[in-house]
Amino acid sequence: MRKPTRSREVGRGEKVVPGVWRLRLPLPWPGVPHCNAWALAAGDGIVLVDTGMHLPGSMAHLERAMDQAGLRIDLVRLIVLTHAHVDHCGQAPPIAERAGCEVWLHPDHGHATADADDPERAFERRAEIARLSGVPEAPLRRWLEHLPLEWAFDEPHRTSPIRGAALPMGFNRKPHYTRGLLLVGDSGGMVNPFNGEGIAYALESAEMAADAIVQAHGRPVAERERALRAYPAALDARYGGYYTLGRLFVRLIGNPSVMKLATQHGLHHDRLMRFTLKLLANLTDPRGGDASDRIINALSKVTPVA
Ligand SMILES: Cc1cc2nc3c(=O)[nH]c(=O)nc-3n(C[C@H](O)[C@H](O)[C@H](O)COP(=O)(O)OP(=O)(O)OC[C@H]3O[C@@H](n4cnc5c(N)ncnc54)[C@H](O)[C@@H]3O)c2cc1C
Repeated sequence: MRKPTRSREVGRGEKVVPGVWRLRLPLPWPGVPHCNAWALAAGDGIVLVDTGMHLPGSMAHLERAMDQAGLRIDLVRLIVLTHAHVDHCGQAPPIAERAGCEVWLHPDHGHATADADDPERAFERRAEIARLSGVPEAPLRRWLEHLPLEWAFDEPHRTSPIRGAALPMGFNRKPHYTRGLLLVGDSGGMVNPFNGEGIAYALESAEMAADAIVQAHGRPVAERERALRAYPAALDARYGGYYTLGRLFVRLIGNPSVMKLATQHGLHHDRLMRFTLKLLANLTDPRGGDASDRIINALSKVTPVA
């Protein structure tokens, strides 16, 4: 028999910073080996954020993780659940019973707990979420084709069209300002087309929008509109050219022969890879920097806004 390539997960606990411990609790799922629960110092005890799944042996894993962190279940004064997925909340009832503490969970957990009441609908809901999140129709259809026949996710049982939507990427949702409404983050299509990242752009655009709003509030009514219009202009100046480059890049690597050429020759080229990483991750120095910073900044400046 082949030896297992990785050791089995067991509960582990470690201090992250004073008063915060991470408790890694094993999960039985392929590809998702563990979930993280967190212990936070609170008075003479701890608040436990998430609990792991409830399975035979799972409590022993939690106790092992806590023991490594110098903690015990009877120190839990409160359990806070981030969301109602079984790997995050499953073990809450037995812990609450042993510790004699309350459990806090957002009251609007129907979207998660409904799956347990009606598992067949759960897959329908997942397909719907995928559609709303922009998964194109072809892969959705392929996915549906692999579901068991008895679930009846087939053409005869379809009640509405299968739809996809464009990912909110490369400034594909515009205008970013009109009639008192400012779009930030995904609502303004601000995911970076080079790498699919959107968190930093959501935060940065929100800051830029907030600046414009503050400016508008501080001005006489007649000048407010001009202050708000500065927001889309600032967005274009910061990301417009770079996003156009990103859209061109995506089109290029969508061509299999270009992709083949790039992987065959580019991957071994140290300097080219450093340049590509900077370009893809938008990690250039805005001022100064090395030659690659200057090339990327200059290209972004001369490229028309996306
Ligand atoms: C699977 C996946 C993986 C990703 N991985 C990464 C990654 O590794 N790195 C990265 O940088 N980006 C990643 N992204 C992209 C990133 O998550 C988004 O770009 C970013 O979260 C956008 O932030 P946002 O605030 O604009 O929108 P959101 O995070 O979508 O926030 C919008 C909020 O508004 C709420 N809302 C919607 N309608 C209403 C309403 N009518 N009333 C009240 N509230 C409402 C929504 O519930 C939501 O909480 C990923 C996206 C996905 C889908």
